[in-house]
Amino acid sequence: MSKQTIAILGGGPAALSFAAFIDTQKYDVTIYEKNKQLGRKFLVAGKGGFNLTHSEDIEQFIQRYTPADFLEDALRSFTNTDLQAWLKEIGIPTFTGSSNRIYPEKGIKPIEVLDTIVEFLKSRGIRFNFEHEWIGWDENQSLLFKNGATIKTDKVVFALGGGSWSVTGSKGEWLTYFEEKNIQTVPFEPSNCAYQVEWDNALIEKHAGAPIKNCAISCGKKTQKGEVVLTQFGLEGNAIYALSSEIRKAFLTEKVAQITIDFKPALRQKEVLEKLSSSWRTKMGDILKHDIRLSPTHIDLLKSITSKEEFHSKEKLAKLIKAFPITITGAAPIDEAISTVGGIDRSALSHYCEIQKLPNHYCIGEMVDWDAPTGGYLLQACFSMGHFLAKHF
Ligand SMILES: Cc1cc2nc3c(=O)[nH]c(=O)nc-3n(C[C@H](O)[C@H](O)[C@H](O)COP(=O)(O)OP(=O)(O)OC[C@H]3O[C@@H](n4cnc5c(N)ncnc54)[C@H](O)[C@@H]3O)c2cc1C
Repeated sequence: MSKQTIAILGGGPAALSFAAFIDTQKYDVTIYEKNKQLGRKFLVAGKGGFNLTHSEDIEQFIQRYTPADFLEDALRSFTNTDLQAWLKEIGIPTFTGSSNRIYPEKGIKPIEVLDTIVEFLKSRGIRFNFEHEWIGWDENQSLLFKNGATIKTDKVVFALGGGSWSVTGSKGEWLTYFEEKNIQTVPFEPSNCAYQVEWDNALIEKHAGAPIKNCAISCGKKTQKGEVVLTQFGLEGNAIYALSSEIRKAFLTEKVAQITIDFKPALRQKEVLEKLSSSWRTKMGDILKHDIRLSPTHIDLLKSITSKEEFHSKEKLAKLIKAFPITITGAAPIDEAISTVGGIDRSALSHYCEIQKLPNHYCIGEMVDWDAPTGGYLLQACFSMGHFLAKHF
């Protein structure tokens, strides 16, 4: 019996995962990538932390996604531990860092991770066609490429990525091709990005680049522990990135988002007040520094929103230390975001991500409208979606 053919459009982690797990006895699989190489955004991710996934109990893990139920079955079919086991099997051992993020073992470069996966795909007979930018369909409903090529395959898997870091090839211009076919799409919006704050000039001149470590930031119903950095633009860092979905929700109704930073998540407000009240020191700056162990940045932040009188009110300070209010007035430009939401509307897809209006056409990875914090959750979802679909075929 002759094999069915599959075209995978895009060559990022979602595509690579699908190609790694599809049954090549049954299917002839070709990846069509617009760039001259695969996985450019994967390599960009590698320049930073390169969190391949996150070490966390799967129940908790699933809850990191928005909406959690959309990806639940995919994540259960190929969990964070499954991903680590598979990577190890093909020659990429991993380790768990102090923040529970999973990295390739020390000494293994991102390009080696990518090359190892690509070698694995080659050994499975997966074919690659570079410089093939898909630009829609022709009148015969064949896939049309910018270089003039057209192809028709039994099944098509779109894995075109999100709408940020266009230098990597993920421009999201393909949204219009789906819209022309009346397939529901959602405009791209930045996620996991820096957020804008109208800082006091003197404060930010002095503290731009300063981290606020071991804090907990709240927005809406979510609280995230971690670290943020003050910048001229506003705030960046994992703790604020993880609140992206709540911040976007607030922007919709209020145009701004109110967040609070707990400078001392390990202490209750009552305990902060006790420490402030029982100190033998006389100067408030010294009490905050030595008894509460606040940094100069914490202290100047407190000063920036209190009058002289309020700065000496222990009750007022205890309250602010536990919930320092900041107004977020905007997000960084989409191209600078680590990830995007938007793309193909979830309602356009079946449980296995088949486009309802276009049978045998599937969408996986960041091109579908879901959200997750960075730190391994994005890549894990892409790998899980690829695996889930491949095992369904
Ligand atoms: C700076 C940065 C750091 C990151 N760090 C992490 C991290 O540490 N951990 C983590 O989990 N995630 C991280 N991410 C996010 C992660 O890299 C992405 O979520 C992931 O790469 C998405 O995979 P994908 O396969 O869906 O899409 P992509 O990786 O974007 O791949 C899509 C591919 O499709 C190709 N393509 C697009 N349009 C066409 C077309 N019309 N025709 C043909 N090909 C096309 C693109 O060229 C691209 O190669 C980071 C992202 C950035 C930008």
